[in-house]
Amino acid sequence: MGELFGSREGEPGGKTIVAVAVAANVWRTFDYIWPAELGEPEVGRRVRVPFGRGDRLTLGFVTQAGRPPSQRKLKTVAEAIEPASQFDQPLWKLGEWISHYYICPLGMVLAAMVPSAVGRGAARTETVAYLTAQRRDWPARLGARQKRLLDELYEAGRQRVAPLSLESLLRHSGAARGSVKRLAGRGLIRLEERQVTLGQIGQSPAPDPFELNDDQKAVLAALEDKLTGGFGVTLLHGVTGSGKTEIYIRAIRTVLAAGRQAILLVPEIALATQTMTRLVARLPRVAVLHSGLSAAERAFHYQQIQSGQAGVVVGPRSAIFAPARRLGLIIVDEEHEPGYKQDNAPRYHGRDAAVMRGRLSGVPVLLGSATPSLESLHNAQTGRYALLRLPRRVRGLPMPKLQIVHLRREGTPGRIELIGRTLTQKIAAALDRREQVILLMNRRGYASYVFCPSCHWTLTCDHCTRAMVFHQATQLVMCHYCQHSGPLPARCPACGGKLLLFGMGIQRIEGELARKFPAAHSARMDSDTMTSPRQFRKVFEEFAAGELDILLGTQMVAKGLDFPRVSLVGVVSADTSLSIPDFRASERTFQLIVQVAGRAGRGETSGEVVVQTLHADDPAVRLAVNHDYDNFAAGELALRRQAEVPPFTRIVRFIVRHRDADKARRSAGELAARLRSLLAGQKVTFQGPQFAIVKKIQNLFRFQLLLFAPPGAVQQHVTPAMEQLCHNLPAEVIPDVDPTNLL
Ligand code: ADP
Ligand code: ZN
Ligand code: ZN
Repeated sequence: MGELFGSREGEPGGKTIVAVAVAANVWRTFDYIWPAELGEPEVGRRVRVPFGRGDRLTLGFVTQAGRPPSQRKLKTVAEAIEPASQFDQPLWKLGEWISHYYICPLGMVLAAMVPSAVGRGAARTETVAYLTAQRRDWPARLGARQKRLLDELYEAGRQRVAPLSLESLLRHSGAARGSVKRLAGRGLIRLEERQVTLGQIGQSPAPDPFELNDDQKAVLAALEDKLTGGFGVTLLHGVTGSGKTEIYIRAIRTVLAAGRQAILLVPEIALATQTMTRLVARLPRVAVLHSGLSAAERAFHYQQIQSGQAGVVVGPRSAIFAPARRLGLIIVDEEHEPGYKQDNAPRYHGRDAAVMRGRLSGVPVLLGSATPSLESLHNAQTGRYALLRLPRRVRGLPMPKLQIVHLRREGTPGRIELIGRTLTQKIAAALDRREQVILLMNRRGYASYVFCPSCHWTLTCDHCTRAMVFHQATQLVMCHYCQHSGPLPARCPACGGKLLLFGMGIQRIEGELARKFPAAHSARMDSDTMTSPRQFRKVFEEFAAGELDILLGTQMVAKGLDFPRVSLVGVVSADTSLSIPDFRASERTFQLIVQVAGRAGRGETSGEVVVQTLHADDPAVRLAVNHDYDNFAAGELALRRQAEVPPFTRIVRFIVRHRDADKARRSAGELAARLRSLLAGQKVTFQGPQFAIVKKIQNLFRFQLLLFAPPGAVQQHVTPAMEQLCHNLPAEVIPDVDPTNLL
């Protein structure tokens, strides 16, 4: 266009100028010249622009198409990724809302909303790997990563999901490309280019296995009324095993029949469970966005959703950005799950983004849980959300019976036993009856502390100042914040005394189980043993097939599992989650006990649950044991109101971090002073700045500043001022709105 109108170089008079939000941590947009050969400069189009020192090509998004001419010499947009915007109006608005509400630059938010491979020509084909060697022909000497790679492929074959994309294989095995090539060279695996396909799309769904019961019919009828009524949020409080998933399936079918699309958000781990397999089998045209997808598969699903080929999107929090143009319903399962909050920028909450997307798209939102978050319950009580209940389990099944066991009275004197007398007896009895057992231990590692009994020295991470955890399998101590690891010291460095391993990690229970029940088959499920979705599925399948007697795990085992032969659930220690310094510790503990208890007695055998604790009188424990959500919630809400914490106020947290403790401290102080003057006269209470509970992570000292205010009050003034607020501060400032982690 420039040449056409005869304007000279350096004088942008006749040129089209656009504003671009780059995908970087900067608050302002930048003007660029838009070359005519890129077509129309529509708002939302993805581009690459020269940015920063060295003019590195950086992803960006057009935010304004016709900018006034500038006196400055402008750079030119280098490339447009596709001919049109990927965002429809509601999705674009959602991006703007997330940017404003979660105090995150728009370019970073938009970049998180579109998978990076979308629009790249390469998305059509990808490299996949097949296992060609029989298991018995695998070489005896294999590197750990090569072995893991072959195991992954073997599992994929058994689960009939082979071949696997090379990308996901590398990610989950940790193997390098070179070692894959060597395996292929030795004829153990075969690599191939192929078309990307969408696993489940196009299949015809299985018929309904049963009729809804009366409770479910009532809930579904109430919901169907809302399906045509535009935006509105409904909270479905249904006890574990009450048939919520069945409600989701039928509501989604109604939406599909009307020619619309549905999004179902689930916690990440639930994607690997049999419940999910069943759900997918009952619905047509489902795109499942699990973490095992390759970039190409992700991009392909994205296009299928955009074109309407896929009618249903099931995925973790980021699935809320699925480009469903004919959206008719959004469901958030297990809406109380803290995992819906993203812990890096943009730090959005999947449930709250879902509610906002529903509002912007004018579609109903359904939030489901057996233990609704107090935020959602409060919204229901104040009339913002409708409330529906499923108070009973399906098929007249009784709620599992819970029993509290005081750990103090259970042990053998002089020994710390993690599985007390009562739980031991009940496990033995269940195994005798050939029934299955789930044990929950909410902490990783074998021993929590390396501790000197004579001088009370404890081993802490040099980089994070937190206690390090000894891992039996690797014989190393490890920091769970920065993953730093090292050998176990031979003696106490302070006094030379003998060190003691003390704590109650999951590996220690594994050892105790092996000692007490040598004949039982058990498996452990935590983030150390489960490094890919296929491994989850493997353990789930073995458990379902009865090949395992005991499943021991962290909170992973509390979610969405449905095994009819589980008659006993043990909570090894309710105290580990109670002792977290966070105002939500009680709520988390209550949820965890109720959720894991819900795994018991889902078949013909009635369920029994043993909760071991040192704090039997704590309301979270006492009321969870009675399935008394209403009284727990009432008591907890009263406390929260008194303490003026969420849901009665909102928290905006700023972490200020720097290698140098003093710079971090001074920056935090300066930021606090700037915020105080910016927010003078607003209803905002400040707490801090002070050291965060975890003072140092990965060698960065952390100060925190908490602001308590009505919803949106802080953002209204702070988001537009972020650039000035952070101006010339040596330390990095990380805003976190509605934080779920206060460590
Ligand atoms: P929730 O999601 O509330 O924990 P689910 O929807 O998973 O419950 O249902 C629990 C079990 O009961 C599942 O195995 C499901 O297939 C079964 N189920 C659900 N609704 C009915 C019904 N109306 N009659 C019989 N079984 C049902
Ligand atoms: Zn560390
Ligand atoms: Zn010592």
